Amino acid sequence: MNATIKARIEAIFDQVIKRNPGEPEFHQAVWEVIDTLGPVLHKHPEYAEQKIIERICEPERQIIFRVPWQDDRGEVQINRGFRVGFNSALGPYKGGLRFHPSVSLGTIKFLGFEQTFKNALSGMPIGGAKGGSDFDPKNKSDGDVMRFCQSFMTELYRHIGEFTDVPAGDIGVGAREIGYLFGQYKRITNRYESGVITGKSPAWGGALVRREATGYGTVYFAREMLNVRGVSLEGKTAVVSGSGNVAIYAIEKLQEYGVKVVACSDSSGFIHDPDGLDLDTIKQIKEVERGRIGAYRVTHKKATYTANGNIWDVPCDIAFPCATQNELNEASARTLVANGCIAVSEGANMPTTPEGVKVFLDAGICYGPGKAANAGGVATSALEMQQNASRDAWSFEYTDKKLQNIMMDIHRDCYETAKEYGLKNNYVAGANIVGFRRVAAAMLAFGII
Ligand code: NDP
Repeated sequence: MNATIKARIEAIFDQVIKRNPGEPEFHQAVWEVIDTLGPVLHKHPEYAEQKIIERICEPERQIIFRVPWQDDRGEVQINRGFRVGFNSALGPYKGGLRFHPSVSLGTIKFLGFEQTFKNALSGMPIGGAKGGSDFDPKNKSDGDVMRFCQSFMTELYRHIGEFTDVPAGDIGVGAREIGYLFGQYKRITNRYESGVITGKSPAWGGALVRREATGYGTVYFAREMLNVRGVSLEGKTAVVSGSGNVAIYAIEKLQEYGVKVVACSDSSGFIHDPDGLDLDTIKQIKEVERGRIGAYRVTHKKATYTANGNIWDVPCDIAFPCATQNELNEASARTLVANGCIAVSEGANMPTTPEGVKVFLDAGICYGPGKAANAGGVATSALEMQQNASRDAWSFEYTDKKLQNIMMDIHRDCYETAKEYGLKNNYVAGANIVGFRRVAAAMLAFGII
């Protein structure tokens, strides 16, 4: 990279650290993107002149609010709610809501930043956003979750709308939470505005395939990366971290493709079943009973359960990190490569640390960053918005075909762009550059706003 451009990017990053103290995940997400943009600034000096990177790093708006609610015992509880509208150059803000005790403004900003590039990469007309709360839905009754969601929406409703900002689910926010949130929105606004939130049940405005989309999409992306190298998924062994929405449907699609998935996890530990996981049991434990993954052993005695262990120690051909950020570090990346892993496709957002990413890139294995590999979820949310706008409902097969085409297009765009910049097989650079160029072109057209 040219020394002047390098210095400029480093100066931008110093500024980001200064203006956003105590937000290491946000700093990490910003650096992972802007570190790859030097060649684009070289080709497009107008982006530097108009300070596009500086502007992209500053969220358009950040909303923080109090969420008071009363639990089953009548005790008053107070949580904090967030919604960060990061960038609306390409369309209304779009991104999920995360309910997890670890949620802070820095987490939401990192996710909103990532979402901006991912949404641009998806080719859909949507901007980037994220939101959530430090509320923990784990071990809460339906009544507690409902009262929390109603209070959360009582503030959020004034900031969202189908042409303004369209939330969806993420960690801790599934069909149950989306139902309570939409119910309250509908009640307050007196409008049946289906397109205001995605991830709805297909029984009342949701799209078929949205539930499966992120997991399936991650597998489609892995399939495309391997195709380029003339390798097929069939007969391979995989490890999938997590056992939530993304992990479960990644496992489902992998099994359909004849892949043996031998391990998955939750925040307590991981299970390893060398014969291949029984997905029905996992769905029963996690989707129906909302229990702990260790319960798998009750019916599957041959499987092992390791509390607080490292799932990446389990040998596999392909790894799918589908739990949370920074769950796969440098040591785990080295272990995976040493055990013969040939591909990593990220269902989660930023699950691999920068040091881990470097190990995969240096080893020359297929590495699909979350921005590209998990974009199927938000792309299908955009398909849900299309159906809501036209008051239509598409079949599962039709929507899944569209999802596959979108994932193939994303893969092709990342691959071709990386090649164009002399970085063949580097999907990190490819994804960042494609997403950035699309957002930057729109921002340039709008003038200084
Ligand atoms: P869920 O809440 O459905 O599942 C999350 C899973 O990850 C659970 O198994 C959970 O375990 C586990 N997990 C959460 N935090 C930790 C942790 N700190 N350590 C270990 N395991 C953890 O969320 P999703 O499946 O929706 O999301 C998973 C990832 O995918 C996130 O990074 C999310 O941002 C990303 N993503 C999700 C999309 C979607 O459509 N849902 C779209 C694109 C990205 P436990 O059950 O113990 O809580």
